[in-house]
Amino acid sequence: MKILISGGAGFIGSHLCDYFLKKGNKVICLDNLLTGRKENIAHLLKNKNFKFIKQDITEKFSLSGKVDAICHLASAASPKDYLKFPLETLKAGSAGTLNLLELARKKRAIFLLASTSEVYGDPKVSPQRENYWGNVNCIGPRSCYDEAKRFSEALTIAYHRKYSLEVRIARIFNTFGPRMKGNDGRAIPTFIGQSLKNEDLTVFGKGDQTRSFCYISDLIEGIYRLLKSKEPRPINLGNPSEMKIVDLAKKVIALSKSKSSLVYKPLPVDDPKRRCPDIKRAKELLGWQPKVNLEEGLKRTIAWFRSL
Ligand code: UDP
Repeated sequence: MKILISGGAGFIGSHLCDYFLKKGNKVICLDNLLTGRKENIAHLLKNKNFKFIKQDITEKFSLSGKVDAICHLASAASPKDYLKFPLETLKAGSAGTLNLLELARKKRAIFLLASTSEVYGDPKVSPQRENYWGNVNCIGPRSCYDEAKRFSEALTIAYHRKYSLEVRIARIFNTFGPRMKGNDGRAIPTFIGQSLKNEDLTVFGKGDQTRSFCYISDLIEGIYRLLKSKEPRPINLGNPSEMKIVDLAKKVIALSKSKSSLVYKPLPVDDPKRRCPDIKRAKELLGWQPKVNLEEGLKRTIAWFRSL
């Protein structure tokens, strides 16, 4: 297959490029490098089955030749990044999604949208199932990301209904692993960076808000299985083992054998209180569930950050 990956130089996108190439496919990676990084794909640039095109998908562009599948991952994705680039984030999830859906229609390609657990906002039910409509503040600081992804889902399903386009919607929960940016503000890279420098770990609020963290290789396997399935409805992809952020911070300190302590900082506005995926649909339809536990994933990620 020939697969186009938008946002292919990002954290998740670059792992997806690796995965598809390893399986013998051809990959075209589109990225405008706003938050993605060339070093994530540097090892692929000489691969004859890989092509990198520096392209802003919110602008009109054309692509010759066949494409079998489009995976749309292009977007700022960490709260720090999308707060810095709110308009770019809204455009990537609106004009960008529209351009790629049109391309998929012309090429008769399968379209996979990388959506997010943020579509559930600050959820009032937990764990979150795909049939929960969410609790999103549409003018809050996170709205540029949440609403762009909600709009992307609406656009994707409209193309499916109107044009019978083959679509897939992955609702991706917190994911971590090598190639995360140390300065993207997210909890795991921030805590690891602080631990390795023996600096205080910045826990926001009381740290009793929860998240559930999925290791990158598990997520990539889930995306692949979703693409191969025939399921147009959204599917949660994430690790259902939920934990408090303060406990995550302590775990990172212990695993990196750090002398760091915790320091408490104000909780960001609209920071979701709980987040945990119900992955029953993924289990039943894709035969998928995460295999790498948090401790193992953290060890591998700490080792990678140390090696930098
Ligand atoms: N967080 C924290 N300290 C940090 C970075 C994040 O306590 O230095 C918290 C943040 O407030 C949130 C959780 O960790 O409750 C996960 O944040 P992250 O930015 O990784 O992802 P989010 O799930 O908010 O998109």
